[in-house]
Amino acid sequence: MNRTSALILAERAVPRYTSYPTAPHFANTVNSEVVRHWMATLNPDASLSLYLHIPYCRDMCAYCGCATKATKRDEPIEAYVSTLIDEIEQAGAMMLAKSVRAIHWGGGTPSLVGPKRFSRIIAALTNAFDLSNVVEHAVELDPRVVTEEFIAMMARHGVNRASLGVQDLNAHVQVAMGRVQPFVMVADCVAHLRAHGINAINFDLMYGLPQQSVADVEKSARLALQLKPSRIASFGYAHVPWMRPHQKMIDAASLPGAAERIEQAEMAEQIFVEAGYQAIGLDHFALPDDPLAIAARNGTMRRNFQGYVTDDADALIGFGATSIGRLPRGYVQNFPDVGHWRRAVEAGELPIARGLVFSADDHARGAVIERLMCDFAVDFGGIADEYFGHADYFDDALAELDALAAQGVLMRQDRVVTLSEGGRSFVRLAAACFDAYLEHNRARHSVAV
Ligand code: SF4
Repeated sequence: MNRTSALILAERAVPRYTSYPTAPHFANTVNSEVVRHWMATLNPDASLSLYLHIPYCRDMCAYCGCATKATKRDEPIEAYVSTLIDEIEQAGAMMLAKSVRAIHWGGGTPSLVGPKRFSRIIAALTNAFDLSNVVEHAVELDPRVVTEEFIAMMARHGVNRASLGVQDLNAHVQVAMGRVQPFVMVADCVAHLRAHGINAINFDLMYGLPQQSVADVEKSARLALQLKPSRIASFGYAHVPWMRPHQKMIDAASLPGAAERIEQAEMAEQIFVEAGYQAIGLDHFALPDDPLAIAARNGTMRRNFQGYVTDDADALIGFGATSIGRLPRGYVQNFPDVGHWRRAVEAGELPIARGLVFSADDHARGAVIERLMCDFAVDFGGIADEYFGHADYFDDALAELDALAAQGVLMRQDRVVTLSEGGRSFVRLAAACFDAYLEHNRARHSVAV
């Protein structure tokens, strides 16, 4: 693929496909009553994955794309945790399925709850569910905020993976992105985690940041490698100030253009692969013995709202404002506004704002898109045959796929698509060929690379 084609493709706006259908298509027809029924009728043997959302941070980083808000006070966090515990108790009481396989804490900044409240939440989870089969218990950490006391307490509660927001390790970029976090702070956090036995450590790095050059990305990547994380995600910064108004703090003129973003992504990949990391899906890397690398090699890796995961639980239950869950019948999302969410929980209702009931078409297209995003290849005829008994179900995508093939993004052999080496960065464009919602309601998304 030549550079001009790559640039044109990189500018196209497409979803990230952490779900299909994507969240903008959720509707308020899925409400508390609907989801109560879904949860109550979940197979008692179903395995569960739990997501806990803590939507508070001490300060707002200018580049942030998360559902969170800044608070210097403790009171909102105390009130939030009380409601979160009520929500956990209510959900636990209405479900027969109890066996939890994975727990993930995200935010915001989960460590802001502090050791005592974290322990209270764990106690509520232990009462409501069966945590004896948990394989992975992961917490997102901000190295600027986490204390060694908190890390020790996490370890005592069985946390075995930590995901650190690192982003970039150059002082001038950190100032421009509104998050100053020297390398030594990250190194100390990693040392404390390892000292307490939490050895599975993920780093989130970013390219496409304000004032960031290819050399900055290279320096950050090399410094990050000194700390030997087991997984690295190298995300492209998504400048969407119409969705995240605080991003207006970033001067759009200071952002690298499409060509430089591609070079930055390539530089990061080259450094991680040369260091022995396995490239996984889109923008992810893992040491070859990490479970995610093994799942990627076996073709069993999954993709959900947390990105690439090994988790194959039957249902994902989300707790906290904004959180999204996935039940066998459809997606559910809690109220994003804390006040709304709290009033619903206090009224004894599930705090569901919206969701989506899966159709057979959604299931099948979701399967095609997930395999593409995870494997860079998919036998969409085989999936069509499995779901509908005829292989030509997705043939409406052929014209768009062939246009991408002509641009060198992918190869198509009958109804099997494989991304080219140079086309992998554009896998979202290939996935978009199977997105039945895209044309009808084109929400504004971030650029493809
Ligand atoms: S980037 Fe992380 S720490 Fe910064 S505001 Fe967003 S959620 Fe909070």
